[in-house]
Amino acid sequence: MRLLLLAPPGAGKGTQGERLAGRLGVQHISAGELLRAQARADTGVGREIAAYQQRGDLVPDAIVFEVLTPVVVVAVARGGYILDGFPRTLPQATAAAELGVRLGLTLDAVVSLHAPQAVLVQRLLDRAIQGGRSDDTAAVIRHRLEVFTTTTSPLIAYYRDRGILVAVDADQAPEVVTTEILTRLSDRSLTPDRR
Ligand code: ADP
Repeated sequence: MRLLLLAPPGAGKGTQGERLAGRLGVQHISAGELLRAQARADTGVGREIAAYQQRGDLVPDAIVFEVLTPVVVVAVARGGYILDGFPRTLPQATAAAELGVRLGLTLDAVVSLHAPQAVLVQRLLDRAIQGGRSDDTAAVIRHRLEVFTTTTSPLIAYYRDRGILVAVDADQAPEVVTTEILTRLSDRSLTPDRR
């Protein structure tokens, strides 16, 4: 199974990524987490990543590919992945598609999670109160949502045009969202039928 999770901040990419990986028996890869891990390292590139993440700006593609590619290659060899947070731009999507063709790998599906903007903002502010991430401040949250709308959301149409988009309402309890995703994947014969 090779699955992408495409969703704005606060929609539950990380939560669903973990749950789906557990249910489908493949590795969960979070682009944001991998970059945060690099950012914690006291290196030049780590400091560069940290600066982009703190502002809520996208990390440059070259760095993203360098961090992500080896992890994805290992996951593929082990049977697949649930990748959340990548691609986030059209150039990332086309570069990933070219790489996929070269390696004889194509995506099975792209799950797009959607929820009203007010719900997303509230979830992120709640996470901030619970001692969340340093990019969960009101101003940076607003900026991350803008970056999603302008730069990442065109990917929804990109994958819909390729016939692999599965759109799910994320404004529901996490277990309901997971069940709906699994049902929609089994409708596409991508997972064993559970009903
Ligand atoms: P969220 O979607 O809530 O913002 P993530 O953990 O997915 O959380 O991403 C956090 C940050 O990591 C982004 O704001 C960005 O700086 C960086 N990042 C994650 N994925 C990518 C990517 N594919 N390309 C560029 N930057 C990325």
